[in-house]
Amino acid sequence: MKTRTIAIIIALLQTIAAACQSESALYGHAMNFARQGCKDSLFYSLDRMVTLYGARDADLLPELLLEPRLRPYHSDSRWIQVKDRLRKARIEAASESPRPCQTDTATRLDNTPIVNSYDIDLTIDVAAKRIDVRADIDIDFRGNSHADLYLWRHTQLSRVAVNGQAARYEFAKDIEAPWIRPSGRLRIDAGTARGAARITTAYTCRLDSIPEDGFAACDSSLVMLTYYMGWYPIDIDHETSTANIDIHITPGFELTGSGIISRKADTWHMTQPWEGFDYTIIASPDLKQKTVSHNNRKIEVVSLGFPDADADSVAVRSAEIMDYYTRLYRLEPNGRQLRIFLFPAGGGGAYSRRNFIVCCCQRYNEWLYQLLAHEIGHFWWSSAPTDQWEDWLNESFAQYSSLCAIRQHLGSAVFDDYIEAYREWARTACPIRGLNRQANGAFYTFYHKGAVLLYDLQQRIGDKAFFDLMHHLATKRIGSQHDFEAETSRRLSHDDCLWIERRLNQ
Ligand SMILES: [Zn+2]
Repeated sequence: MKTRTIAIIIALLQTIAAACQSESALYGHAMNFARQGCKDSLFYSLDRMVTLYGARDADLLPELLLEPRLRPYHSDSRWIQVKDRLRKARIEAASESPRPCQTDTATRLDNTPIVNSYDIDLTIDVAAKRIDVRADIDIDFRGNSHADLYLWRHTQLSRVAVNGQAARYEFAKDIEAPWIRPSGRLRIDAGTARGAARITTAYTCRLDSIPEDGFAACDSSLVMLTYYMGWYPIDIDHETSTANIDIHITPGFELTGSGIISRKADTWHMTQPWEGFDYTIIASPDLKQKTVSHNNRKIEVVSLGFPDADADSVAVRSAEIMDYYTRLYRLEPNGRQLRIFLFPAGGGGAYSRRNFIVCCCQRYNEWLYQLLAHEIGHFWWSSAPTDQWEDWLNESFAQYSSLCAIRQHLGSAVFDDYIEAYREWARTACPIRGLNRQANGAFYTFYHKGAVLLYDLQQRIGDKAFFDLMHHLATKRIGSQHDFEAETSRRLSHDDCLWIERRLNQ
């Protein structure tokens, strides 16, 4: 049999097999056909996916729009048909079961106690999966009779004192903070203190039950202690503390983290003199570090089992993104140095702090590029509260920044695909104004819908007026909707302000 005939038979068999398979199997087949350049088989698979899963999977159209392997086929007329059919199926499915929109119930408490600084002595026993901590906390009770701090749930407290006197406290393990899990609420009685005071704590955290999908680890290959698991008593209402931390860990481990790291004999030290709320500690016997200096900036990439060439790409691209945003917003970011930790965990996810980013990833690709661009975007957009709908001032702006970086890096056609995909997600997402930050689907509202709003605003008022506005918003570190509206009413016409208002409510 001729090679060509065999190839046709194989493609035919693959096509038949694809006809009776799950969505992920069909997707895999389609991508194989795309890679092999088998156009007809590719569109046959896509057609099957649309028929079988178009109405059930609301993410299918936007995901296909963002699929790099399909880009060579975007000029084929069948691609337009696939999109049209999927869009129709999406709209019909959404009208049959509209998404319920939970309203924001978070209230801003202005006068809660505020932690100013931590002085911590931390001993990490990796083999025993345990940390022993002595944490001295400078706090201002601001007239309150107690302070609520949040701590890793599996914690045994051995001492809690206020100004040197043993204090009454209650550790409610069933009351969890929104982003910190598993955590419990540590309520410390102020005693006679009502203003500035020093809380002294000593405790042991058992780390043998760390959830596998969180930003935490305690293993002989990696120790990761972060805000998101509450290894120190956390003030969830404020983001203005500093810290000095002495760290003792099993010999052979290298250590890094969110602050400035130094080492004296067996003791590591991390100081974080800038205001923040997250004190991330990372340790491993196998940490790899590489640093690039670029335009007076220092970018350090810390990784674990990450391909060397990919780590280089992360460093170089991050430097480019920082330069690009600096030009775009005509504003330097807060710091001239950035440490990026590439957390070798599945499931995606990332977070950004001043001078520090953590990304869950296995290798460098377009997805990681955008994730980095989003997190770097927060160096300009991070002043609004993160537990309320006003978080759109952080997330939508960081996400739109990442789309601008995509356009700069990959060109306008790819950028347009992103906008088209985001518009699909936005179509079925709840309105931004008043949405509960923890609501189901809030991600699509705060990331995608908000980014589309900003894109449409740019089209409406033009590039110059748009980036002037962005410059002023970023320079003033706008941290509330009230301040956003004050600034937009100063810079935009009344009609444009009403337009934004309408879009926030849509
Ligand atoms: Zn973000």
